[in-house]
Amino acid sequence: MSQQIKVLVTGAGGFIGHNFVNFLKKRGYWVRGVDLKYPEYEQTAADEFEILDLRRWPDCLQAAIDMDEIYNMAANMGGIGFIHSHKAEIMHDNALINIHMLEASRLCGARRYLYTSSACVYPAYRQETPDLEPLKEEDAYPADSEDGYGWEKLFSERQCRHYLEDYRLETRVVRFHNIFGPLGTYDGGREKSPAAICRKVAMANNGDEIEVWGDGLQTRSYCYINDCVEGIYRLMKSDYREPLNLGQDRMIAINELVDIVSEIAGKKLIKRYDLTKPQGVRGRNSDNTRLRQTLGWEPQISLEEGLRQTYQWIYGELVKNGKVRRSEMYMVSGAP
Ligand code: NAD
Repeated sequence: MSQQIKVLVTGAGGFIGHNFVNFLKKRGYWVRGVDLKYPEYEQTAADEFEILDLRRWPDCLQAAIDMDEIYNMAANMGGIGFIHSHKAEIMHDNALINIHMLEASRLCGARRYLYTSSACVYPAYRQETPDLEPLKEEDAYPADSEDGYGWEKLFSERQCRHYLEDYRLETRVVRFHNIFGPLGTYDGGREKSPAAICRKVAMANNGDEIEVWGDGLQTRSYCYINDCVEGIYRLMKSDYREPLNLGQDRMIAINELVDIVSEIAGKKLIKRYDLTKPQGVRGRNSDNTRLRQTLGWEPQISLEEGLRQTYQWIYGELVKNGKVRRSEMYMVSGAP
């Protein structure tokens, strides 16, 4: 049965999209991947992969034709440094992608459409201290989202709701909270904090200093990629039509994240704080009450296990690219 379902994954050259294509192929779906680029770290498993620019209307029609289900994961995005310094470009590109993809999905007769929103829709006034209450879905309003990237996400969430109300397109909206794992960007300026920290730790020698953005007291929760792909698949299958958090609800400070990665690497490092770098909101955590109620499920993989997998992968990439020499000490503790 699932063999015949045709699924479009946009952003399939990126981190979550590529991992999700692998997930769908293991379950027997026919998959079309679309992106501006091919996946960087391994070949796609998609049945068909088209290089298209989804800011362009004709490209969206070409992507959506003959598809039963559409997972829209294409976005111009990156870590906090990137989204702080590219607000106009991000809003321009992502608004065009999402407006065009929704309309193309409707015209092409897709049955279901999943939109990948973000915890960046939550208002700044609820995230001013490191030890805040976890964010519930209804906390998104009154709105005061992350400038640029977050406001566009909130707008596109609402557009999904209107396509459901006005056109009966079955839209689903997921709000990710810091997804991390192997096969994601780890350098070049678009990487997120877990990947950046894994890279910095891998490149440091025992006893070195490593740079931490901000004072390290800012808090977040982090969700491993395998849980992310499982969660979006379950949400798409469900009959839940409101935005839903998808993340872990264990909140930790960036300092602790650095300590966990250093321990995995078997290194003792000194943190050097750069207070001039953007650090985003002061604290953020996911309230998973509705996730548990709706899907009867929540993320399973511990932060330590996820970081171990991620560190090993990033370390392996750096060794492969000649940026780090393979360390005997780390090999003893289980690196590839
Ligand atoms: P990513 O940057 O790895 O992947 C996004 C992909 O979209 C990239 O491969 C990029 O080339 C592609 N893309 C950008 N513009 C395009 C265009 N005009 N046409 C076609 N493709 C285009 O990011 P990701 O982490 O895989 O994120 C996937 C989705 O999840 C995005 O919508 C993102 O906003 C959302 N999200 C991710 C996180 C996270 O922690 N990774 C958190 C919140 C929300």
